[in-house]
Amino acid sequence: MHANHSAHNYQALIDQWRTISQKNSLIFNKLTVYDQFPVFEISNQLVQRNEPALYISSGIHGDEVAACWGLLDWAKQSHDILTSIPIILFPCLNPWGFVHNSRTDKRGQDLNRIWGMDKHPFTEKIFLRLEKISILLSLNLHEDFDANGIYLYDPYIGNNQDSWADNILNAGKKSLPLDRRETIEGRAVHNGVIRPRIDNPPEDGIPEALYLLEKHGSRNFTIETPSEESLRTRISAQKLMIEEAVRLAF
Ligand SMILES: [Zn+2]
Repeated sequence: MHANHSAHNYQALIDQWRTISQKNSLIFNKLTVYDQFPVFEISNQLVQRNEPALYISSGIHGDEVAACWGLLDWAKQSHDILTSIPIILFPCLNPWGFVHNSRTDKRGQDLNRIWGMDKHPFTEKIFLRLEKISILLSLNLHEDFDANGIYLYDPYIGNNQDSWADNILNAGKKSLPLDRRETIEGRAVHNGVIRPRIDNPPEDGIPEALYLLEKHGSRNFTIETPSEESLRTRISAQKLMIEEAVRLAF
């Protein structure tokens, strides 16, 4: 972690992304402004050619900060990936929440439940941006206050009875153990893996992961680290799990 600033310093996070973007000739773009904060998107030239891309987002829940710093740490050490495969990254989707340590936006809206709405000022810019992009792998990085270890969602799409989920968790286990709960949010967990069916979405709205699956058909993992553990180990677990997922897919 970075000793000279707090975990909720959005400016510091974005400054480092700007530096990484310059070093790797990435396209650093202000996608929109939401709740008075700029929301940034980072891509490369390869993604413009419509080759199947790597999509990673973090910080849609602003209080899950290790997701954002873990993605940054992964990017710092991933020059080869950032310059050789098509990427589109959202380093912090809810900056107002990041700064205010809030899961929701300024009005109390959970931004991970509005992806089924036709028109919402937050998602409409993202939908437009993704229109011409094909996605091979999408990762949504999260944290969980109730978790006692790492776990992930690997939505059941009929053809994912492989070992990817286990491999990703095994990588993360170098930093943090698996969550030991047998059910999470009412869903069964097996060795840290939840396989929700896509026809059984959360009752309170459509999450980003489901949108990505339905509109882009990409393989998707939602990765979770336990918010009560030390920031350093959570950042490390996030980074290790991203690294392994990318290795498997590309
Ligand atoms: Zn979350």
